[in-house]
Amino acid sequence: MINVNNLRPLTGDGRKLFIETYGCQMNVGDSEIVVAIMQKEGYFYTDRIEEADIILINTCSIRDNAEQRIWGRLTEMRRLRKRKPTLLVGVIGCMAERLKEKLTEGELAVDIVAGPDAYRDLPRLVREAEGGGKGVNTLLSQEETYAEIAPVRLDKNGVSAYIAIMRGCNNFCSYCVVPYTRGRERSRDAATIISEARSLFENGYREVTLLGQNVNSYRTGDVNFPALLKAVAEISPLLRVRFATSHPKDMSDELLEVMASMPNICRAIHLPAQSGSTVMLERMNRKYTRQWYLDRVKAIRHYMPDCAITTDLIAGFTGETEEDHKQTLSLMEEVGYEFAFCSNIQSVPAHLHNATWVTTYPKMSKRHV
Ligand code: SF4
Repeated sequence: MINVNNLRPLTGDGRKLFIETYGCQMNVGDSEIVVAIMQKEGYFYTDRIEEADIILINTCSIRDNAEQRIWGRLTEMRRLRKRKPTLLVGVIGCMAERLKEKLTEGELAVDIVAGPDAYRDLPRLVREAEGGGKGVNTLLSQEETYAEIAPVRLDKNGVSAYIAIMRGCNNFCSYCVVPYTRGRERSRDAATIISEARSLFENGYREVTLLGQNVNSYRTGDVNFPALLKAVAEISPLLRVRFATSHPKDMSDELLEVMASMPNICRAIHLPAQSGSTVMLERMNRKYTRQWYLDRVKAIRHYMPDCAITTDLIAGFTGETEEDHKQTLSLMEEVGYEFAFCSNIQSVPAHLHNATWVTTYPKMSKRHV
């Protein structure tokens, strides 16, 4: 029996929500979850900013200029507010988690600040802001995975979609902000992932990418990542399955066996090396050595000789010598990557030593190096 006393009017009242997303694919997935939560509260999603009653900016803190871009956007928001004084503006995501209340102060002050684990609380934060206050929640959670919330697919391609299988990261690589802005690792219930993949397939999608900061350490109960990957691939041989991102220290033979046994699991592994020098890997707190990494590559080639391997690499990390850098170049030559995201650490203030600017190199072969 519904207790009418607990019912309260939906606050959305048909108001329009515009959401702007920056950063990684996890943020794209989060924006789709935010729209689902707000729609349930009676807000309508619009992709036209001039129609918006609420603008939420989903942000990234992986590098300094990612945050600088947001400060630029907030300056533009001031213009929109002048035209529409009732307009509410909020910052969500990693920058919200890193800067917290600071975002509600100063000339670029916003009305709403929500960290990556606080999206269920957004309707309340909006009510707070509508009442003239500031809606702020940046509490990180040990449990939150938004498992049962069906994301509203904002990218209408209708063919491929991302499915977030876990949140947070426990690895604390010394250059990375993610564990501080997205909290500790927690895996989403396997049944909700499999049913989301099945519903996408039944709605015509033919490719899903299982997403996490380090998918290889996924585990709920006795379901580890190889078991989850197999279960998703078994939905239909017509469903192509991909996953990202892997951490070399957790890349198991069990996973490679599952990949090799199922043709609809794409032969592609993104395996961030970051450096070819074991000394640098220790400084980065990557928890594996150059030899361990090469042994994993050998195992991949053993199970799937045609598997494409891509990577992330950092040049100029604190203390890197010419010899260390040569070891990264020789690693690139030895592995023969399909492509590599290469970052240069020098261009960023020390406390954010995780600068990235992307240069993609075509297929690495002896001739190119
Ligand atoms: S594994 Fe990735 S997300 Fe996690 S701390 Fe390292 S670089 Fe960051």
